[in-house]
Amino acid sequence: MTERSVRLPVVDLSAPGRGRTTAEGEQLERYRESLLKFRDKYMDFPQWVSVETLALCNAACDFCHYPDMQRKGVRMPDEVFEFIIDDLTRIPHRFGFTPVRVNEPFLDTRLFEFLRLACDRLPRADLYMVTNGTPLVDPVVDRLVALNRVKRLNISFNDHREAEYERAMQLRYGQTLARLDRLHERALAGELNFEVSISRVGDNTPADDAFIAWVRARWSAFGATSHPRADWTGAVDISTDFKVPDVACAQWFKLNILADGKDAFCCLDPTGDHGYGSVPDRTPLELYNAPGKRELREKLTSRLDISVCRMCPILV
Ligand code: SF4
Repeated sequence: MTERSVRLPVVDLSAPGRGRTTAEGEQLERYRESLLKFRDKYMDFPQWVSVETLALCNAACDFCHYPDMQRKGVRMPDEVFEFIIDDLTRIPHRFGFTPVRVNEPFLDTRLFEFLRLACDRLPRADLYMVTNGTPLVDPVVDRLVALNRVKRLNISFNDHREAEYERAMQLRYGQTLARLDRLHERALAGELNFEVSISRVGDNTPADDAFIAWVRARWSAFGATSHPRADWTGAVDISTDFKVPDVACAQWFKLNILADGKDAFCCLDPTGDHGYGSVPDRTPLELYNAPGKRELREKLTSRLDISVCRMCPILV
């Protein structure tokens, strides 16, 4: 039986990207309150949309489903991306938009063309970018700045220790560090018009806090976060002792579309096997309002009673 006691990992929902720790009870209470507000505001239209345009990554993180993913190399057709964007024009409130799922989004050579389309047609969308940091050379950063619509750039750096970084991500530590040092230099010079956050998929060891301290000391202009690792709805074996909170999930107010058009149940459904269909057979907003998903939002049932969720410690 799933343990119902709560020992929450370090996540501060009140200040995303800043990595401030809070007492577990207070944190969970705040999360519950935010879900009630979400239910009032985002029942019919999503609070957040993510779209994977090319299922490709240059890393092979040991906590991610990507190394085993069958969808590698699948490219969303241009017209499907446009179909998604056109449907999202119906969202009447401000919402987050991010062109990423189980991939490194900057590997898609169409990325900035897609972002321009999204900016032009979705005036209520705020862009949230995610990357492992390796593509962030100056000309790429210049293009992000030129969009003038990016709210936050989250860099999945994961480990401050060289050997651990290279083992966990299969990327070159020195190269990534140089890119992030340069980005920080530009942040201090006032050249960026978005906030930057450095994140870790934590393992519930002292390394989680050490990572946050290290990031704050090296890159004072950046935020730092550590989120618990999860089992990707059963797709990845993990061995940590994060406890599962007795609460619903904010992911039920988000819409996630994979490169093959499938609706992912949440950010941790790597295949779309738990979703409600696919585009273009259904529109994105039809998928968001699939009866099963609506019911989750209406009832806000504890994740401990939802089979897909009952092993998940994530509060995002
Ligand atoms: S509880 Fe975990 S598995 Fe369930 S929707 Fe939320 S993030 Fe996904």
